[in-house]
Amino acid sequence: MLGFFFDNSRCTGCRTCEMACVDYNDLPAGRKYRRIIDYEGGTWIDNGDGTFSTSAFCYHISLACNHCANPECVHVCPTGAMHKNDLGLVVVNNERCVGCGYCTIACPYHAPSIDPILRQSSKCHGCSDRVAAGKRPICVEACPLRALDFGEVDDLIARHGTFDANILPLPDSKLTSPNLMVKKSPAADSEMAEEGSVVNWLEIENNHEE
Ligand code: SF4
Ligand code: SF4
Ligand code: SF4
Repeated sequence: MLGFFFDNSRCTGCRTCEMACVDYNDLPAGRKYRRIIDYEGGTWIDNGDGTFSTSAFCYHISLACNHCANPECVHVCPTGAMHKNDLGLVVVNNERCVGCGYCTIACPYHAPSIDPILRQSSKCHGCSDRVAAGKRPICVEACPLRALDFGEVDDLIARHGTFDANILPLPDSKLTSPNLMVKKSPAADSEMAEEGSVVNWLEIENNHEE
């Protein structure tokens, strides 16, 4: 089974992965297959002695399709267009997609969106052509912080250890069993993460405008 590893403690939110994907896939302005979620929280605390401390935190999540073991997008597609290819990666068959958008609603990670020109679903294809040729995805190669990795899940575990995909604000991984392992930053791994919020909704949601 192929999947992604993401080291949240390394990611600086630079968006090089996002841009490398846009360039490789020749996507028009505003469309992205990989997005960066900026998640922030915390406050200033008055210590009562004329000093202040802060609990402010910020972390970033680089997210594309997770090529889930239990892909809701595939289950709801009425034409079989959304499917797992020979590599086990979840991709769209453009000859079958009727642009109904069911996959965009079913995916808890909001990975697929309807291409406004093609009127068909499109999303991260896991760089299937590169992977079939023994190469790694462009986004993984591009990350200057080496925060991303890709490969057989067993190999990822051997290289990085075992992690799940449960990090705020992502949904519970029980929903689709994503092939994504996330190594959390200290902030993401602490209770204060529950007090945070996504601060770049506009940037993320633009990806889904039709
Ligand atoms: S992340 Fe979403 S689009 Fe990708 S396989 Fe999982 S359910 Fe489908
Ligand atoms: S695997 Fe390929 S298509 Fe998917 S986000 Fe990375 S560069 Fe884009
Ligand atoms: S290129 Fe690497 S460090 Fe930069 S946003 Fe992407 S995953 Fe994070």
